[in-house]
Amino acid sequence: AAAGDENDVVVIGGGPGGYVAAIKAAQLGLQTTCIEKRGTLGGTCLNVGCIPSKALLHSSHMYHEAKHAFPHHGVQFSDLKIDLSAMMAQKDKAVSGLTRGIEGLFKKNKVTYVKGYGKFISPSEVSVDTPDGGSAVVKGKHIIIATGSDVKSLPGVTIDEKKIVSSTGALALTEIPKKLVVIGAGYIGLEMGSVWGRLGSEVTVVEFAPDIVPTMDGEVRKQFQRMLEKQKMKFMLKTKVVGVDTSGEGVKLTIEPAAGGEQSTLEADVVLVSAGRVPFTDGLGLEKLGVETDKIGRITVDKKFMTNVSGVYAIGDVIPGPMLAHKAEEDGVACVEFIAGKEGHVDYDLVPGVVYTHPEVASVGKTEEQVKATGVAYRVGKFPFMANSRAKAIDDADGIVKILAEKETDKVLGVHIMSPNAGELIHEAVLALQYGASSEDIARTCHAHPTMSEAVKEAAMATYDKPIHI
Ligand code: FAD
Repeated sequence: AAAGDENDVVVIGGGPGGYVAAIKAAQLGLQTTCIEKRGTLGGTCLNVGCIPSKALLHSSHMYHEAKHAFPHHGVQFSDLKIDLSAMMAQKDKAVSGLTRGIEGLFKKNKVTYVKGYGKFISPSEVSVDTPDGGSAVVKGKHIIIATGSDVKSLPGVTIDEKKIVSSTGALALTEIPKKLVVIGAGYIGLEMGSVWGRLGSEVTVVEFAPDIVPTMDGEVRKQFQRMLEKQKMKFMLKTKVVGVDTSGEGVKLTIEPAAGGEQSTLEADVVLVSAGRVPFTDGLGLEKLGVETDKIGRITVDKKFMTNVSGVYAIGDVIPGPMLAHKAEEDGVACVEFIAGKEGHVDYDLVPGVVYTHPEVASVGKTEEQVKATGVAYRVGKFPFMANSRAKAIDDADGIVKILAEKETDKVLGVHIMSPNAGELIHEAVLALQYGASSEDIARTCHAHPTMSEAVKEAAMATYDKPIHI
């Protein structure tokens, strides 16, 4: 459809929520247009989020392994070096290949792609400021807002993407900082801190809260923090940044205890601000339309993703729920299924969460703290990777599987894995929870030997009985 023709569905935003919704809508036979201002598709995730961070995590892990692990495996060489620009080029190649891939998928599925900034004129019309300076009107019976999120700024801390960077700047540094201070111990801060720590930066993480990654199971979190400390990451918890001075060569941060008290200074070459993300709806014209948002700017939607304005929907990071790419995708599919008159479904209790450090930490379902809070009697089964043959064979055995199951029925309530590739291992557990499996169901499922996955089976055994290998 040319811009101006009536569409069944118009999607504003081409991130994982928006582009997946657009493709699914087209597959359901709906005439669909997707509007994206960035110049490339894939949103935060592909351009400045999930994908470039995982590229750098992998490259930096290879360097770290070559330096610290290879000798144990009898692989020796001299003169190990980092070519940062080659590392960045490989990351950029991954990103551009994938974003172009989505353009290909749009063509294949006959989704019209309009580049430019979208603004509501009415509940069924969007004006687009196109990159050539012109404008177009795109009409649609149903309009989906998938405009995602942006970096949350901290009062008094101005991001210049050079000395004081957001995650976007931290993905594109041109030099390895000697000292990196990370403000915020969420998964983005820990992942980016890991990248630069592995490449040689001294990393200090300053966090206002008493804990890192607050959503994580407490016991796993403690072990995880110890792991990161072993990798020389330093933590200053219950600490707040109250001042920033960039007048000198580096950055001087003034910090004080979260509860108030004596101030001190912390020096850095680069400061990463990773204190969360906020929904992005700037310039969209929501007020004009009367679309309701909550206190923190998230668009309010009903069970079918419709806002209070009929025909206008919202999905992904711009609505409540975990700000994760796969959650945005699930929203997108379910939303267009509803639009097409079918049933859509997202189980928000079973969205897996992964921190892609080394080891990775992955979880699904409830933490032990959450299970306790429900008051239900439960059992815990644990199995350490130190007792897993594959982990020992590859000499990468730091980590644990922890399974929580209801005492009476043995139904699995939550699974938490810390290990290399935990982000892959977790999906067996996601499926188990999705199907309402018991821990005995997992334990009686044959797992190939020798694999890391056997640790999941043994933790399941430990939940209602005894594991074999410990
Ligand atoms: P977005 O991806 O933010 O896409 C929204 C798009 O809308 C943007 O491209 C924007 O340009 C466009 N847009 C906005 N307003 C307009 C407008 N008015 N007109 C036209 N276009 C507009 N999630 C994971 O699941 N796994 C990870 O490993 C992971 N790693 C991350 C690492 C980092 C450093 C960051 C920052 C995020 C990471 N995330 C990760 C989170 C993930 O990127 C987001 O949850 C996901 O991108 C949300 O998808 P979305 O489609 O809702 O929004």
